[in-house]
Amino acid sequence: MAVDALDPAADDTWLVDHAVRARLHQVDGRPRTARQINFALQLLVLIACVGELGWWPLALSPVAVGAFLAADRLMARTDHAELVYAAAWSIAQATIAGAAAATGGPDSPLLLWLAITVAAGVGRFTPRGLAAGVVLTLALLCAATFGVDSGRVLEAPYLLAFPMSLVLGIALVGSALMRSEVEHRADAIVDPLTQMLNRKALAARGRELALQSEVSGRPVGVVLGDLDHFKAINDADGHQAGDAVLREIAYRWRTALRAYDLAYRLGGEEFVVLLPGATEDEARGLAEKLRRAIAAEPIAGRTVTMSFGVAVSGAGGFDVDTQYRRADEALYMAKHAGRDRVIVAG
Ligand code: GH3
Ligand code: MG
Ligand code: MG
Repeated sequence: MAVDALDPAADDTWLVDHAVRARLHQVDGRPRTARQINFALQLLVLIACVGELGWWPLALSPVAVGAFLAADRLMARTDHAELVYAAAWSIAQATIAGAAAATGGPDSPLLLWLAITVAAGVGRFTPRGLAAGVVLTLALLCAATFGVDSGRVLEAPYLLAFPMSLVLGIALVGSALMRSEVEHRADAIVDPLTQMLNRKALAARGRELALQSEVSGRPVGVVLGDLDHFKAINDADGHQAGDAVLREIAYRWRTALRAYDLAYRLGGEEFVVLLPGATEDEARGLAEKLRRAIAAEPIAGRTVTMSFGVAVSGAGGFDVDTQYRRADEALYMAKHAGRDRVIVAG
């Protein structure tokens, strides 16, 4: 498998892909604060307007808010977080449409709030997933207006046209901004979670080392590490806890490596160091040092281990894809031999 051809998108679905998955899981930090302020603002407006709109919208608001809070908890514990989020999203839209229907249908100001949830879907779903959400939203808009007073909508079509154009406008502008952000990120060479270099940087450095080893005749070592049973950590403690473990791994690698050893995170829980000029013994020694640095002390109260595959090129013939593949085969053997060990490709 080539270093830059490894499929980072093995678990893509039509609702979510690698470009939006990380954001789907980001339910703390800035997005959470923004969401809390948004909920509070909406609640204040509903309380202030009880005189005009009645108690219905206020009574229904715990359903929409509760759906998102329940989703946060569930998402950390399932492999299909996108389905959980899509369900909460749909419940919120249906609740807002219901409240709009109960407060004047076509004349209800609550129709506009459907656009807020659409904005929350931008960047959390693929364009196709978002399009499905927009279709659902437009259908709910029609139901909450035509279904309540079709005569009023026919007499004043702008009551439906404005909320519809708001929903479509936010989805269109939002996805265009999102796409450009994703393209910018594709140019990056630093992994945002661990601040390590990424797969793209490894491919570039690999090409450079190939030329260098051809000229100098020196070997190049590849040390490949993969966390053991990482999925179990995600399953037991949630995705956020898994991310914290990945950051701690990056920190321990940094501490164990020399300043000029560049380390890369290849996505997931796989890390690599390239060692120009290293012998097999030196590469094995470094892998052992990294292995001990992980296993020596528990991370967040849990013993974490890493398995390693090491490959060193013959003098002057380094090719990053070939050596990566050999290291990967050695890693596979290390996993099968019981994990928490180093195997050098023979
Ligand atoms: P093994 O010992 O055989 O390597 O088992 P494993 O569970 O580590 O391996 P597997 O490849 O089955 O699982 C890797 C898991 O890593 C699956 C995926 O959910 C998780 N993962 C991938 N990227 C990230 C990430 O950025 N953050 C978190 N928290 N988890 C991730
Ligand atoms: Mg693993
Ligand atoms: Mg893995």
